[in-house]
Amino acid sequence: MSVFDVAVIGGGLAGKSTAIHLLKKGYSILILEKSNPNKSIPCAGGMAASVENYFPLDLENAIETEIKRVYFSWKNEDPVIAELSGKSPFLIVNRKNLDEILTKEVYRFGATILFSIKIESLKLVNNNWLIQCKNKKTFRAKYLVIADGSESLWASYLSLGPKKPKYASTIAINIKGLGNIEKNTVRFEFGSIKYGFAWAFPMQDSINIGLGSFIGDSKIKDKELCEYIVQSLGFKDIKYERIFKRLRIWNGFHKLHNERVLVVGDAASLCDPFLAEGIRPSLISSYYASETIDKCLTSNKNHLHEYSLLMKENWSKSMIWGKRIAEVFYRFPKIGYRLGVKRKTAPERIAQILSGEMNYSDIAGRVIRRFIFQSESKNVE
Ligand SMILES: Cc1cc2nc3c(=O)[nH]c(=O)nc-3n(C[C@H](O)[C@H](O)[C@H](O)COP(=O)(O)OP(=O)(O)OC[C@H]3O[C@@H](n4cnc5c(N)ncnc54)[C@H](O)[C@@H]3O)c2cc1C
Repeated sequence: MSVFDVAVIGGGLAGKSTAIHLLKKGYSILILEKSNPNKSIPCAGGMAASVENYFPLDLENAIETEIKRVYFSWKNEDPVIAELSGKSPFLIVNRKNLDEILTKEVYRFGATILFSIKIESLKLVNNNWLIQCKNKKTFRAKYLVIADGSESLWASYLSLGPKKPKYASTIAINIKGLGNIEKNTVRFEFGSIKYGFAWAFPMQDSINIGLGSFIGDSKIKDKELCEYIVQSLGFKDIKYERIFKRLRIWNGFHKLHNERVLVVGDAASLCDPFLAEGIRPSLISSYYASETIDKCLTSNKNHLHEYSLLMKENWSKSMIWGKRIAEVFYRFPKIGYRLGVKRKTAPERIAQILSGEMNYSDIAGRVIRRFIFQSESKNVE
């Protein structure tokens, strides 16, 4: 039985990106994906242009919209509009196109990719992973990348990431047309959703609407709430599908590697707990995972601990502030809106966060101090 250099469990954004980085370095890669190739991912596709630095391909063909303006509202009133400078734009990608491009590239570089596969066991035997599948097929690989998303089975089994992951509750809706959303404008609505917000990201001829709740186990299941958001965006009397998804969110520093294995993307609980940004950390983790595995394979030494450190430095240090801001903002949203959005300089700061020009740690000290002072001294909601 031949031994692959790396086996990737999960063929989503993070899994395929890791695979392509490694394929480009000349390694043999096996991708095992439980779903069929046409499965679509509920994702609004908003991302900072700076992620291109971590993406293994040219993103050009997947970009639908370049965003020029961010429109915030509080219970659909009291709007605040921020113009994006354009130095570092916020982009909307079509996730279906992006995933198809990645799949094509994975094939082009010669990976073995198997769909609709059920993995039954993963065992490390004599420095090789033994992967046993339901159809009695067995594979071997020197290294393993866990990329099986928010409902990961394997991350906690292999002691990767948090023991008890934290989840946001989300709903995704896609509707033909743009409603009352202006072209090149994204909308963020606060105050209507408990412990969270709603977003609307325009594509060429349709709109991705999302609802997210980030604290506790509160599940957004309310049909009327969805209808209220959809109508406020200018759509009346239309039918649409609501897709529910639990999204693993960042919840502290955790070890993301173990012996000859590491975890990337949502399975690693990297999603921003304030704004649900998951594309950027998926791509950052894919990039550093492939760099670290390359180092291990070329030197024949164990460097995997470096991956956890790189992710701590390049993502988690900002997320610790994202988590703190989310906890205060979503518990006291009215104050949050006043201090975090309505202040003169705030929209520009949020725009800079979205576009990747700034991270939470750059603004955190001031924001948190302001929130704590206000929420202690006022009678809050
Ligand atoms: C409603 C919604 C809107 C979002 N909008 C945005 C946005 O605008 N911007 C942004 O940055 N992020 C957004 N995100 C987050 C973003 O979509 C994710 O962070 C990103 O897709 C994570 O990629 P992934 O590869 O880690 O996981 P996934 O894309 O979930 O891929 C995991 C893959 O693993 C497969 N798999 C699962 N279990 C197994 C198994 N046992 N064996 C083999 N394969 C398995 C799955 O079938 C899937 O193909 C959004 C998320 C949601 C839910």
